[in-house]
Amino acid sequence: MTSDLYEFSVSELSAGLAAHRFSPVEVVEAHLARITALEPKLQERWLIASGIVGSPKTRSLMRSWRHTPEAASFLKDLIAFRERLRDAVLRLESGSVPPDEFIREVNEGLIAHPPVMALNKREGQIYREPLLNPKRPTDLWSPILDGTADLLSEPETHRIRQCEACVVHFFDVSKKGSRRWCSMNICGNKVKVAAYQRRRRERA
Ligand SMILES: [Zn+2]
Repeated sequence: MTSDLYEFSVSELSAGLAAHRFSPVEVVEAHLARITALEPKLQERWLIASGIVGSPKTRSLMRSWRHTPEAASFLKDLIAFRERLRDAVLRLESGSVPPDEFIREVNEGLIAHPPVMALNKREGQIYREPLLNPKRPTDLWSPILDGTADLLSEPETHRIRQCEACVVHFFDVSKKGSRRWCSMNICGNKVKVAAYQRRRRERA
């Protein structure tokens, strides 16, 4: 439902909201999805921020695809996939399991875009990570699906949770498993500054 809400006219939206057929949150999310769909740069930023696209070579390749029909159809599929992944994450967080059809979709994706693994050495440690050497936009599926498979098969689901200060969900890799924010630099500081200002106001 959420993904096609953005096709509604303003009057259809207000009628739907008044009748509680969907929530304001769904409307906002649908519009955000729409903006992201129309703006490839935002998608690119997401792919970079999530660590899927890292090397300068892959970044410039991604920029060269920006206005191609293949990239447009990949982005459309990616946005729809992200909605289903979001649903799977919400289910994991509530102690349930993702639906069979999503597991099937991920399995079919892994067959079509098998991740190639490579060893990388950083700070004296060896990491086994997906090797990304894309030739076309759909090649980006393999690290995305690999990450999805990792997340869905994670035994410690209590480490998957939503940030206390924003809409981001994250996987807590800290030792204690008590991380509260997606990023200490952004949301952690925001909450701490707000708490500090509140205490100051109370004292004043
Ligand atoms: Zn956050």
